[in-house]
Amino acid sequence: MHKPLIKIDDKHVPLYRIVWVADLPHFCGEEDCVREGYYEVRLDVDDSIWTHHADRDRVIEALNQWCGDPREDGDMGGEPEF
Ligand SMILES: [Zn+2]
Repeated sequence: MHKPLIKIDDKHVPLYRIVWVADLPHFCGEEDCVREGYYEVRLDVDDSIWTHHADRDRVIEALNQWCGDPREDGDMGGEPEF
């Protein structure tokens, strides 16, 4: 079993709290924006975590493992059963 917990920007976040992960770095044009170049990880509690590119990829990988086809665990390369 994969652990449904990932560390993002010094916070341990349950994967099931993540709604979406930005594909592109934030840009809003505001002069004093401190999030520019960061990737947003949206949480379901009306809050977001901001992280850099490598961490963003790590989050997506963890989500893919966690949300992925459970048949990929265990019998690797097996034919799907119909
Ligand atoms: Zn901004």
